[in-house]
Amino acid sequence: MKKAFITGVTGQDGAYLSKFLLGKGYHVIGMIRRSASSDMIGERLRWLGILGQIELVDGDLIDLSSLIRLMGTHKPDEVYNLAAQSFVATSWQQPLLTGEVTGLGAVNMLEALRLMHPSARFYQASSSEMFGNIRAPVQNETTPFYPRSPYAAAKLYAHWMTVNYRESFGLHASSGILFNHESPLRGVEFVTRHITDGVAQIKLGLASELKLGNVHATRDWGHARDYVQAMWLMLQQDVPDDYVIATGRTVSVQDFAGMAFAHAGLNAADFIRLDPARLRPAEVDALHGDAAKAAEKLGWRAHVALEAMAAEMVDADIARYQRKAG
Ligand code: NDP
Ligand code: GDP
Repeated sequence: MKKAFITGVTGQDGAYLSKFLLGKGYHVIGMIRRSASSDMIGERLRWLGILGQIELVDGDLIDLSSLIRLMGTHKPDEVYNLAAQSFVATSWQQPLLTGEVTGLGAVNMLEALRLMHPSARFYQASSSEMFGNIRAPVQNETTPFYPRSPYAAAKLYAHWMTVNYRESFGLHASSGILFNHESPLRGVEFVTRHITDGVAQIKLGLASELKLGNVHATRDWGHARDYVQAMWLMLQQDVPDDYVIATGRTVSVQDFAGMAFAHAGLNAADFIRLDPARLRPAEVDALHGDAAKAAEKLGWRAHVALEAMAAEMVDADIARYQRKAG
């Protein structure tokens, strides 16, 4: 039985990746950090019905000794480094923590591998945010980077260190440059889930408006369930490499909101209020990915259409509030 080790197992992607790997017959080991609310840990894994099927182990990306111990003990075949301070807006409030976890944390993981278990295959969760102030209207693996937030700068460091460890030490280390991907398990602070959660509240009479920042920003949004398959595919290749993962379809925040409200039978314009406090110090105005390399080399493509994803998220949020109301 193959062993996979996942950091960030309690996050959106960690949950979907765990489910996918369990389906492939893997033994999944998920690293969790200590929390005073231990009964709340693993909510997403519980939602997917897989909490009991994962071996949960203690560790933290900023505690190198914990990573060394875990690599030495478990010697996994594959390591997926998904843990991060992953919210762009927060990265301006906590730039140092973001650098430590999202940037140096990845290097801690690489070091633990190099020292204890260099034969493992490694996946780094890189991000389309690294393209930032875009240098080309459509971005692929050859597009220059221009990070626009502490988060993106930290991810860029982690990305290049992954490339560097591959080239310096021969590690089987791959980096997935994933464009935004969402699901009913997306953190509610991100705009798609903020919208579908707001739509659900308005639909059920729990709220009367939805506050948004820059509704003109555009993103290439896909579904997390599709995207975690690409992570696995990268680690099945003989040669490690970097891949852009995207749908190739870009819409604005406003258009996504339109889809979500329409699914609930509501008119977005009646409820959206612009909130200047939600604007960012520097914005990534537009992202549009070209995943041709992943299609050709990995045989990967996105399956879930944006409208279907918006509908799934709205329905899940409505069901959540209905369950809460008893
Ligand atoms: P989430 O924010 O949902 O999950 C982040 C995970 O990291 C959580 O499990 C969190 O644990 C964990 N974590 C945070 N800090 C630490 C730490 N110091 N030590 C160990 N674990 C820690 O992110 P997603 O699942 O959406 O994304 C997965 C990865 O992919 C992230 O690295 C993200 O930056 C990257 N990415 C995501 C994209 C997207 O659109 N979703 C796009 C491109 C890249 P806890 O539950 O304890 O907080
Ligand atoms: P990001 O691409 O990783 O920053 O993902 P987000 O979902 O956080 O933001 C996507 C885009 O939506 C950014 O350009 C934000 O400025 C924009 N946006 C507009 N209103 C909001 C909002 O209320 N919350 C969030 N999170 N983003 C918003």
